[in-house]
Amino acid sequence: MARGIPPPAPSGALRRLVDGFDRFRGQHFEQDHDLYDALLDGQRPEVMIIACSDSRTDPAIIYGAKPGELFVIRNVAALVPTYEPDHRPRGTSAAIEFGVKALGVRHIIVLGHSFCAGVRCLLEHDHGGARFEFVSDWVNIAREVRDEMDGLVTDAERAVIARRAEQASVLASLRHLATYPFVAEGVEAGRLALHGWYFHFGWGLLQAAESLHGPFRQVDGGTPPAPALGVAEAAPPLPCLRPGPGPARRCDAAGVPARPTEP
Ligand SMILES: [Zn+2]
Repeated sequence: MARGIPPPAPSGALRRLVDGFDRFRGQHFEQDHDLYDALLDGQRPEVMIIACSDSRTDPAIIYGAKPGELFVIRNVAALVPTYEPDHRPRGTSAAIEFGVKALGVRHIIVLGHSFCAGVRCLLEHDHGGARFEFVSDWVNIAREVRDEMDGLVTDAERAVIARRAEQASVLASLRHLATYPFVAEGVEAGRLALHGWYFHFGWGLLQAAESLHGPFRQVDGGTPPAPALGVAEAAPPLPCLRPGPGPARRCDAAGVPARPTEP
């Protein structure tokens, strides 16, 4: 930048972010040394959440999670593509693979939400007449939801169909998840459970799918819902690997396995 020209003043939105970081550093980072020291060694979250990019549905805020607790994947409409190992760059599939294979997550939650613009794009092939360059093709990976809803959509019941489609998209993503061999193997072995959750922020309600085909039931406070697929068993300790050629996951003196490294 040319000398003498002051940098532009931060907008109100950016100012709030910087102020928020200052509060985080003072109230959390500098107050919880044990947590942040432990996280220096790496992450070991038990839960992966696949959520929508929608700014109203931040999983860490909704569930009050601490750093290190959630491995979060966010994309338009919280969709999971089917297993397609075609050597093309696939961000969501890569994150799922890393979470399951490298981090050993025990639970995968697909988190849908009400008033999802991505699902609306899926239903209407666009959004309010706007054709997107990437969004339309992305949401098309859940085209079975549009097929399921076809014929049901009328102006009179459009809102009802939208809520049904949002939940159907969660179920479709769960079924797509089950097509990944390493996910299916984890479910079969009892070390991985799949959950379909739906956040209705208009009502402030959380619902959970009872199976890969529904229905959704309201989650009662204090009672974790059963998985839609698989069994949620307690995580066993990681096997201790002795040092050898290449990177090894080793145990410390207390027998606690070292955490996997960051991607
Ligand atoms: Zn959404």
